[in-house]
Amino acid sequence: QEAEEAYRKRTERSREAHAAAQKVMPGGDTRTIAFFKPYPLTVSRGSGPRIYDADGCEYLDFLNNYTAMIHGHAHPFILEKVQAAITLGTGYAAAIAEQRELAEILCGRIPGMDQVRFCNSGTEATMFALRAARAYTGRPAVIKMEGGYHGTHDAVEFSIAPGAERDSRQPGWTPIPDTKGVPESVARDVYVAPFNDPAAVEEILRQKGEEVAAILVEPVMGVAGVIPPLPGYLAELRRLADQYGVLLVFDEVQTLRLDLGGAQRKFGVTPDLTAIGKIIGGGFPVGAFGGRAEIMAQFDPNQSGCLSQSGTFNGNRATMAAGIASMTLLDERAIARLDLLGERLEAGMRAAIGRYAVPASVNRIGSMLNLHFTERPPVDYASTHSPYKELSKLVHLELLNRGVFTAPRGMWNLSTVMEETDIDQAVDAFADVMAKVSRHL
Ligand code: PLP
Repeated sequence: QEAEEAYRKRTERSREAHAAAQKVMPGGDTRTIAFFKPYPLTVSRGSGPRIYDADGCEYLDFLNNYTAMIHGHAHPFILEKVQAAITLGTGYAAAIAEQRELAEILCGRIPGMDQVRFCNSGTEATMFALRAARAYTGRPAVIKMEGGYHGTHDAVEFSIAPGAERDSRQPGWTPIPDTKGVPESVARDVYVAPFNDPAAVEEILRQKGEEVAAILVEPVMGVAGVIPPLPGYLAELRRLADQYGVLLVFDEVQTLRLDLGGAQRKFGVTPDLTAIGKIIGGGFPVGAFGGRAEIMAQFDPNQSGCLSQSGTFNGNRATMAAGIASMTLLDERAIARLDLLGERLEAGMRAAIGRYAVPASVNRIGSMLNLHFTERPPVDYASTHSPYKELSKLVHLELLNRGVFTAPRGMWNLSTVMEETDIDQAVDAFADVMAKVSRHL
C-alpha cells in the first residue's frame, strides 16, 4: 500500500498517460509482459544506462527492454550507424548488403548456425524454427519445457507459468495453455517436460518419439527466472535428439548475450537450429533463426516446394545497421566486463539478503540475474514456487521508487554502458528494499 502510494505520487504524468492510452489500447499498451499494477511507467527517453519517465524521474535501467538493450540507450555508435543508413531509404523488397554482413557475423560466431534468415521478433524466430524442424522431420509434435518462454505464437503458449498445480498425466505433462484463444488441436502436438530433467524428455520420446519433430529449449531459462542448465543436461538433450531423430532447437533470444557464440558455445553443445533476437537488432525490432545448412536449405526458393518465410520488414536497413553496430560493440572484452559487473551485482544482492535474513536466493549467469524468494536457487519452474513469491512485485515497486528499473518477476540484466558505481547505487537501493521487506515477513 505504502509503496503504491509513493509510486503514484512520483508518477502522476505516467498515470495520466496510461489513462488516456487505455481509451485506444486495452491496458494502455501493446505488451502483456510489460504491464504491472497500479499502472506501468510512460518513458520519455533513455540515455546510456538510464531512462526517464514522463514526470522526469530517473531510473537505472536493469531491465534493458528484457535484455535487448545490451548497450544501453541511444548508444552514440549505434545511432551514428543507423542515421547514416536510413538516409539511403529504409525498405525496398530487395536484399541489402548489410543483411549479408550481419548474417556473416552471426554465422561466424554461433557454432550451430551455418545459415540464417531474419524476421522481426523472437516470436517469429521460434515459429519459423519449428516450421523448419517439422518440415525436415515430417513430424508434427514439439517438446517444450515447463516455464520456457518462446514468444507468443500458438505452439509455444503452453506451460509458461502454469501455477503451482500441474497435471502430471503421462506421457509428458499435458500442456497447460497460458492464454485463451489457442485451439485444443494445437495442444495435441505439444509435450511438456520439466527443465533440467532429461529423464522426462526421454520418457516422452520413448512413447511418442515418432511424432516429435523438435526439442525446443532455452539453454538458460530466462523469463522463468534465469535458471541455468545443470551439468550435462544440454548434452543429454543432444544425445536424446540424435537417438530419436529429433531436432534440437535452442532458443537463444536472451542467452546470446552470455558468450560471443551464445550459450551453445559457452556450454559446448551444438543444436540443429537456433532462434535469436533482441541484441542482434541493436534496439530495433528483430528476430532470426538459423542452423545446419541442410535444414536451412528448405527455405531456398531455388528449390520447388521450398518453405515459406516472408515479412515486409525482414532484414530492413535500420535493423541491420543497428544490429551490425551492436554485434561489433559486443566483443569478448565487452562480455567479460559484463560478467564482472554481474558478479559485483550478485555479491551486493547476496550480502543485502544475508544482512536482513530475507528468505531469498539469486540466480545469475553472466549478465542475467533473477531474485527468487526461495531458500535454494531454483533449478526448474516448480522450484520457483514460494509462499513469498508475491513479494517480487513489492520489491519491483520499491526499487522503482528508488530509481531502479527491473522486471516485476525479479529479473535484472546489465548493459555494457554501466559502471561499477551504477551497480553500487542499485545495490544500495536493493539493500534498502530488503530492510523494508524483512519487516513484512
Ligand atoms: N524467446 C525468448 C527466450 C524470449 O525471452 C523472448 C522474449 O522475451 C522471445 C523468445 C520472444 O521474442 P520477442 O519478444 O522479440 O517476440
